[in-house]
Amino acid sequence: YSIIDREQMQGLENIRAFLKIRTSYDVLPLSFRLIVLDTDLLIRKSLTILIQNGIVSAPLWDSHNSTFAGLLTSTDFINVIQYYCQYPDRLHDIDQFRLSGLREIEKAIGAQPLETISVHPMKPLYEACLEMLKTRARRIPLVDVDDETGREMVVSVITQYRILKFIAVNNEHNTVMLKKSVREIGLGTYTNLQTAHMSDSVLDVIHVMVEHNISAVPIVDANNRVLNVFEAVDVIPCIKGGVYDDLQSSIGEALSKRAEDFPGIYTCGEDDRLDSIFDTVRKSRVHRLIVIDDDSRLRGMISLSDILKYVLLFGEENDAISPDAV
Ligand code: ADP
Repeated sequence: YSIIDREQMQGLENIRAFLKIRTSYDVLPLSFRLIVLDTDLLIRKSLTILIQNGIVSAPLWDSHNSTFAGLLTSTDFINVIQYYCQYPDRLHDIDQFRLSGLREIEKAIGAQPLETISVHPMKPLYEACLEMLKTRARRIPLVDVDDETGREMVVSVITQYRILKFIAVNNEHNTVMLKKSVREIGLGTYTNLQTAHMSDSVLDVIHVMVEHNISAVPIVDANNRVLNVFEAVDVIPCIKGGVYDDLQSSIGEALSKRAEDFPGIYTCGEDDRLDSIFDTVRKSRVHRLIVIDDDSRLRGMISLSDILKYVLLFGEENDAISPDAV
């Protein structure tokens, strides 16, 4: 072990210790709003609500049974689109679907049932992170039980993004110890990268995301130079007028519909060090990093789950934790 290795390991251990003494509750801002959607709502209406409020997911509430009913995310909308592709003649029905019908849609297209896992807000943050890595959930609802009524209550939702931000902001003294480069620690994916071109249709790219179970596809030019990234959440504005609407249009057109406050895409090089990646996470709204070379050519993809997995599990016994093994 070199000094750099030892320092890196020490930094990781300090961050893990931090995650074990903090709770999910600590990650929440002092005041926040939570939009919860009733499962009786039409899917079509739920889209409008998400767009109007500038959010991409919301917890669902079953008011008949007073229970938490899972999270609505862009994956659900992608499932609806797949359903439409398989049963195009049921367009009229699709317009009448309620959120409670999402499970039926999953079944009909043979999709993996969505995780309805949740964590208690006062459990150590470390456990919530492990849960996310095991289930590949990008966000987890915090569910508590009301003392008086004994009923479930959705407190908030925490995302991988929030957790990494929380780590970055509160551990500057530890993240400076992470001096190994992306290349040295093998952070991210570098083989079998899925890409698309500006002229490809939205539907083509959605199929790629579904088939490979990824939430982003870099858009490259003929020389493999990165122009943009199409993300699962970009699907939402594409179907606001109905599923049939804009799916045939090109990625180029779809990307022009992004909200004005779109944070942009973030890139890094293979020689960038993990400490500088944490600087980026601390300062910006990063949801993934595109690894490029000096010529802007695509080299790899680093997802937030790749970073979280490394921070939590590198060098641990169960380093090889994988969703299939659980
Ligand atoms: P997250 O789980 O954080 O939302 P993704 O779904 O984007 O992230 O990524 C899941 C895994 O797939 C990660 O290990 C990531 O490196 C890899 N990955 C992400 N995008 C692509 C892509 N376009 N092609 C191949 N692999 C990818």
